[in-house]
Amino acid sequence: VFSHLVQAPEDPILGVTVAYNKDPSPIKLNLGVGAYRTEEGKPLVLNVVRKAEQQLINDRTRIKEYLPIVGLVEFNKLSAKLILGADSPAIRENRVSTVECLSGTGSLRVGGEFLAKHYHQKTIYITQPTWGNHPKIFTLAGLSVKTYRYYDPSTRGLNFQGLLEDLGAAPPGSIVLLHACAHNPTGVDPTIQQWEQIRKLMRSKGLMPFFDSAYQGFASGSLDTDAKPIRMFVADGGECLVAQSYAKNMGLYGERVGALSIVCKSADVAGKVESQLKLVIRPMYSSPPIHGASIVAVILRDKNLFHEWTLELKAMADRIISMRKQLFEALRARGTPGDWTHIIKQIGMFTFTGLNPAQVSFMTKEYHIYMTSDGRISMAGLSSKTVPHLADAIHAVVTK
Ligand code: PMP
Repeated sequence: VFSHLVQAPEDPILGVTVAYNKDPSPIKLNLGVGAYRTEEGKPLVLNVVRKAEQQLINDRTRIKEYLPIVGLVEFNKLSAKLILGADSPAIRENRVSTVECLSGTGSLRVGGEFLAKHYHQKTIYITQPTWGNHPKIFTLAGLSVKTYRYYDPSTRGLNFQGLLEDLGAAPPGSIVLLHACAHNPTGVDPTIQQWEQIRKLMRSKGLMPFFDSAYQGFASGSLDTDAKPIRMFVADGGECLVAQSYAKNMGLYGERVGALSIVCKSADVAGKVESQLKLVIRPMYSSPPIHGASIVAVILRDKNLFHEWTLELKAMADRIISMRKQLFEALRARGTPGDWTHIIKQIGMFTFTGLNPAQVSFMTKEYHIYMTSDGRISMAGLSSKTVPHLADAIHAVVTK
């Protein structure tokens, strides 16, 4: 009965790894995947995560019963505090509704379906370009997806004027997806002053902010700095949604642990919102997994473990920043034509190199370097040993 099906294409991002795995070359390099790698090119399990897991194993009172539909309640409280700040007025006033979801993706999907069901506007504006999964998540959640200008290829920076014009022209009440920090794929973030202008514009038009926070702590190395744009929107007393992921900042990629927080106007509304979120979640996956949320809760509740986590997080962020500098210097040393300062200016895991699909394809074919066709490279996949190989490839393709 399924013989009529056509073969579906690989996911454009995950497909890069599929192609990489098939390549027998010993010099192959995978810069497609958005996951942290050590200097040795290995995945990293944080020390603090190992400690938390040990604590969980040693606790013989722990059981494996179902979590409630909203997930682990302590995890939800700690997650809201982590993203909104311990002194957040919204938390103090009990007007935040937080549910544990399946990492960032699941939080976006649940938030999207909630809005499609209960919010008067069904259009969500996403940045042009954005993470490839965004349009699919929101379309399937029942929203209509439009884009707003964000990236300026000529400066490899922010098209701030275009952004203000497009959000200014959006119908009142529209939902706007905002990358809280370390914009994927461009690595280009607004400054705090620009965030303030965005906030004012959005509030004056009643646009609904939906923050995607997949990289808290990964951009600057500071959890508080990276959450600042969100906290500015909460401080003004207005509503917003926040999708949080612990994939990158705790290295819990496969645990699928994240949270959706909806900041409401009152505790009464937050209670009703939570009751409706449960109706979205129950028929989707019933309740979320227990293990990842337990690890996060152990780390966030314990002062010492929390501190240790911030150090490990900073070390990951610093290694990425160091890779940016090394790649920039390597291109400079080769005299590679072009302005490559965006490599050190852009923020977070990715550099949007400006290389076009034909150049990417050349680098894959001739140098066995894998990346998404839009020229995005994961700085976390680089090491001091592999920088020269990448610099050689970039030099070759731009001087060809
Ligand atoms: N949003 C953005 C911008 C991302 O880059 C990612 C991960 N690549 C996610 C959300 C979701 O990731 P996860 O579901 O693994 O938390």
